[in-house]
Amino acid sequence: MRTGKDSANQPLHEVNTMKNQNTVLMNTTLMNNQQQKKTRPTLRDISHLDAIALKDIKLVVFDVDGVLVHRGTRIMQTGNITTLETKKIQGAQIEQIKNLHQRGYLINISSGRSLSMLQDMFREILSYVSITFENGSATWYLGVVHQHVNSFVYLKRVYPRLLDVRDANIKGFEPKEFIITIHCEDRVKEIEDILRHEKNLYCIWNGEAYDIGVRGKQTKGIGLKRCIELLRLQQNNALAIGDNYNDIELLSEAGLSVSADKSRVTGDFFIPLDGNFLPAEVLMDRILAVTET
Ligand SMILES: [Mg+2]
Repeated sequence: MRTGKDSANQPLHEVNTMKNQNTVLMNTTLMNNQQQKKTRPTLRDISHLDAIALKDIKLVVFDVDGVLVHRGTRIMQTGNITTLETKKIQGAQIEQIKNLHQRGYLINISSGRSLSMLQDMFREILSYVSITFENGSATWYLGVVHQHVNSFVYLKRVYPRLLDVRDANIKGFEPKEFIITIHCEDRVKEIEDILRHEKNLYCIWNGEAYDIGVRGKQTKGIGLKRCIELLRLQQNNALAIGDNYNDIELLSEAGLSVSADKSRVTGDFFIPLDGNFLPAEVLMDRILAVTET
């Protein structure tokens, strides 16, 4: 097992007030966002993505929710019974991914979701993709799991305390192995109070759930770095697309980055949110249109 050390020493951000619906708590994300803006001054519409920009790209990395499928998770938990909806990737996107594969691109799925759920979602194309799951915790590739982070010692103390929180806004804990994800109708003060004192952990509120993991060690950026090594590639070979706060490190780490929601993350290019098309669909259309067959 390898662990990432790259951003482990970044300073801590204070907890925000509860005024904003979509807020990043106690992690390095806001600072990274500012750094990103400095190093990536131009955020261009995806129609400007051309063959020259793509000349070094060998790996395309997709966030899932809000990119390959629509946002939103239906979860219900009563006692020990958890009901969780599994979304499926649409047939049109399966064809697009197969086309990218035929053009010679490697495909990586990078999500905060669990491996078992992602395997269900992408069952038809598992031969064509690698899966980096739970915010960069590990990568599944051709049936082998490569673990990047050991979060056990960091999370074992806080987990039972979070399970004990009673609040009408809590919908349920999403089944996961390396990070903690708590779905809530709205922000929960008691959860944030617990995490405020956990200096080694981040807590991201994305508008529908809290993602809790190890600060600087358990991010999609670390996941991409390890995935690039696994595939024997370089940073400039990777293009990544994401739409949410847990994608900021992913987009920073990629050689070429695409924001699927420029109100939350920045990058080299952005895809306008118009509701009719999934951002991954727009990106794949563009790549297939401007590269040679
Ligand atoms: Mg997303």
